[in-house]
Amino acid sequence: MIVFENVIKTYQNKQVVNKINLTIASGEFFVLVGPSGSGKTTILKMINRLAQQTSGKILIDNQDVAQVNTTSLRQNIGYVLQNIALFPNLTISQNAGLLLEANGVKRSERQQLVQELLDKVGLPYEQYGSRMPSELSGGEQQRVGIVRALVTKPEIILMDEPFSALDPLSRKQLQDLILSLYQEFKPTIVFVTHDMQEALRLGTKIGVLVNGDLQQVDEPQVIINHPANQIVSSLFNNQKITLIDDLIRTGLKETITENISFDVPHLTSTQTIQELATALYDYDYVIVDQHYIINQRQLLMYISKH
Ligand code: ADP
Ligand code: MG
Repeated sequence: MIVFENVIKTYQNKQVVNKINLTIASGEFFVLVGPSGSGKTTILKMINRLAQQTSGKILIDNQDVAQVNTTSLRQNIGYVLQNIALFPNLTISQNAGLLLEANGVKRSERQQLVQELLDKVGLPYEQYGSRMPSELSGGEQQRVGIVRALVTKPEIILMDEPFSALDPLSRKQLQDLILSLYQEFKPTIVFVTHDMQEALRLGTKIGVLVNGDLQQVDEPQVIINHPANQIVSSLFNNQKITLIDDLIRTGLKETITENISFDVPHLTSTQTIQELATALYDYDYVIVDQHYIINQRQLLMYISKH
């Protein structure tokens, strides 16, 4: 559990984080979303002490991070940035195993852990392990960055706009990847983005930050259906995102009965209508929130009315 207590951060007399109180539960996929300059990176960096708060406290599992030495603090916190900065003169597997090496893990064990994870993120060890970073695309390099952060099995992973520099397809693939790794390892993730759609897609909880103020912290559905104020609602409306949730609320769905094939895509109501359309291109119907069925006809009716 990560707790912010009255945390303020000031740079040269300019307050950029305004008295934040926030609790992030263990195992949460917490997304901090807001426009550029709102203080997201600063908040993230205060967790692993790359930035020092001006006042207030940050606790991890009831321990004040200011009291922990930074090396052991960071050993337990993975960190993934927008531009991952792999060492250009080290191979992919060496880059991926750097933190293991720093933690004193033996070479053979290191190799096994790295291999397992590289295979899992779609960079088969046999094929990629001995390549150099310059031989990888941007999306592939980000995958290595994710492996590097995950391979020590940290309880907390901080991610600062990790997919923002990628093309839409790679971004979608990496979002799917991080969701599946999250399901598998269940770390606590604090993920920063300026992209509302990404926030809704990934977060189990979303914190909306504007000008250093935390406007709302809630589940994605609640943020969409009950925005705390005008600032939150205009942020999400300006993105012109329409969620499957909107379609469900118009009544255009059926509830699952027993004899239904589950061999169809499963979506959640915080995914977009566009994602629904993509899924219905190949299937007659899909299941949403493990509860509703939506078919092509219902989607067409919805679109014809909006
Ligand atoms: P975000 O990640 O949401 O874009 P940041 O946390 O990077 O926002 O920045 C918040 C504000 O703090 C911005 O106005 C930025 O210019 C300022 N800021 C960030 N880092 C520093 C720094 N090291 N020195 C002075 N000002 C900074
Ligand atoms: Mg930032």
